[in-house]
Amino acid sequence: MKNPKKITTDKENLIIDWGNDNNVKISFRHLRKNCPCASCMTEREHQSKDYIRIYNQDQIMLNKIEKVGNYALKLTWNDGHATGIYEYSFLKRLSNL
Ligand SMILES: [Zn+2]
Repeated sequence: MKNPKKITTDKENLIIDWGNDNNVKISFRHLRKNCPCASCMTEREHQSKDYIRIYNQDQIMLNKIEKVGNYALKLTWNDGHATGIYEYSFLKRLSNL
């Protein structure tokens, strides 16, 4: 698994440079919606397909990005949620959606 060369953000997106001019944008909203932590996964499992989650601004605004080893990013949101560890392979899959 190749690691990102560079990670930046704009107002609404995480921008990952995977090298070879392969820049992808993933919106904060999309990242939060797919938060891989146990509590969010459980919450999603209990929702019906028709359920539309409404996020407030703090929930979809990134406060901090930290590297976890050489395989993942830990994202901290403005509402304090910080349990999501986004593995690079997972981020690659998210950016293809
Ligand atoms: Zn979560």
